[in-house]
Amino acid sequence: MSEAAAQTTSDATTYRRLLGLLRPYKVVVGATLLAMVMDSLCMTLFARTIKPMMDRLFTVRDPHVIFWMPIIIIGIFFVRSIAVYIETYGAAYVGRGVVQDMRRRIFDKYLHMPASFFDRESSGQQISRITYTSEQVAQATTDSAKTAIVDGLMVVGLVAVMLWTSWELSLALLVMVPMIGLLVTYVGRRYRRINVTIQDVVGRVTGVVEEVVGAHREVKVFGGQDYESARFNDVTDRTRKLNVKVAATNGLSTAFVQLAAAIALALIVFFATRPFMLKGDFTAGSFATIFMCMGGILPSLKRLTTVQSNIQRGLAAAHELFDIIDTPAERDEGTIVIERCRGDIEFRDVHLVYAGSERAALQGVSLHCPPGSVTALVGRSGSGKSSMASLIPRFYEPTAGMLLLDGKPLDDYALRNLRAQIAWVGQDVVLFDDTIARNIAYGALANAGEADIVAAAEAANAMEFIRGLPNGIHSRVGEDGALLSGGQRQRIAVARALLKNAPILVLDEATSALDTESERLIQDALTRLMKNRTRLVIAHRVSTVAHAD
Ligand code: ADP
Ligand code: MG
Repeated sequence: MSEAAAQTTSDATTYRRLLGLLRPYKVVVGATLLAMVMDSLCMTLFARTIKPMMDRLFTVRDPHVIFWMPIIIIGIFFVRSIAVYIETYGAAYVGRGVVQDMRRRIFDKYLHMPASFFDRESSGQQISRITYTSEQVAQATTDSAKTAIVDGLMVVGLVAVMLWTSWELSLALLVMVPMIGLLVTYVGRRYRRINVTIQDVVGRVTGVVEEVVGAHREVKVFGGQDYESARFNDVTDRTRKLNVKVAATNGLSTAFVQLAAAIALALIVFFATRPFMLKGDFTAGSFATIFMCMGGILPSLKRLTTVQSNIQRGLAAAHELFDIIDTPAERDEGTIVIERCRGDIEFRDVHLVYAGSERAALQGVSLHCPPGSVTALVGRSGSGKSSMASLIPRFYEPTAGMLLLDGKPLDDYALRNLRAQIAWVGQDVVLFDDTIARNIAYGALANAGEADIVAAAEAANAMEFIRGLPNGIHSRVGEDGALLSGGQRQRIAVARALLKNAPILVLDEATSALDTESERLIQDALTRLMKNRTRLVIAHRVSTVAHAD
């Protein structure tokens, strides 16, 4: 299959899927389509009244036409205004629905993507998919569809009126159609190329902004302003150039269509005044009709040329979004669901090579953590401790070897159920922009009582500083806990893990930012509260893990 053919097939598939998104709006879509047909029909009817208007009103002064003509005109435009309202409202209703639908699907997909997906792409790219790319889809499904149908039908209707008025003259004018067709194809192809790049660049703009906003301290201290500024200039410059290219393409097609209009009008005047035309029934009304029809057709054709580009843009966007939707989610084929596991974890000759990396992060690791044991992992940074810990909740899949929980392979457990067995405090504490209480009782813990939350915070040695806050556990922590110190954030993360009270507890350098005293208090609390839990403790200080088995 040639490249162009492959492109067309995938476009067709994408379009079919986009149409599938319209299914829930069947009724609105139906009403909107009907309104669109009415709209173009009214315009055609109006064009059809020009000839009688000119000939019978002014030349003949027919009393019948004089009476009916104003009523007909008002009638036509009354129906048309209703149609225009319905089509505009309907298109917006459906378009916004499709955007929301796309956004939800992508967002839901993000929630179930494997960790490797998030390693692969910048978060800017991932965010702009929801903010920008989804928006582009609305264009293809509604705005452009509206132009395509209304203007398309109007062109057909007006051409019919022209042929009815004077087929000889009309045919003479229609020689311009192939020219315009060529233009449409050229413009469409050019747009498609530009738009795929625009999507990519918009993602990069978001990415740079995000990094600078997130790392404003590093940027300041390490004097990264010039570098970041140059980087931002570079990406925005590319966006600007691409957008100018789009505008230039638009301008070119406008100029071309205007030229075509002028040629058409000149042709009308030329042919209409030939002796053989003046002899027949070609009246002033016929001339006015053809003139008006051409005047109506050309702007419609002009809009139809941009429709092609907008549909291309929407298709490029939809294609990218469908690709994400089709990316396999985290593998979750296990069926075992247990209330509470014993917490017997075994690593059996586990190897892990990250995607895109040549070196193995883990090589033949075997380890047995019996129920209720405390296993300590101490080692150089980069030695693969976090990698080991991230295998337990199946953030990554081992390249070879296997992990077992209670003697059964991890893969055999339903993913949600497996993760319900694990409390985990990662190396980089992540807090949500909410209150302390809701950060501790996050997700599945959301129904925890206040007393339990306080008890967990107490055990994590966090109550001491929480009491000092104006609203206690109902104080907000800021985005990613920006209002708290590193140690305070860690203590909240530990409290979250304690509240979960799961049979397995993984602490990946969870107390590294704490002073030795706080760390000891937390370790004591853990020993007290987590007596029968299997614990995997990763630390860089041997003192942290003094109590390990
Ligand atoms: P530790 O926690 O012991 O400091 P890690 O388990 O984080 O070490 O990392 C082990 C190795 O794996 C490092 O060489 C690191 O570069 C690599 N690595 C860690 N996470 C990823 C990832 N998401 N993708 C690719 N390589 C990774
Ligand atoms: Mg680590």
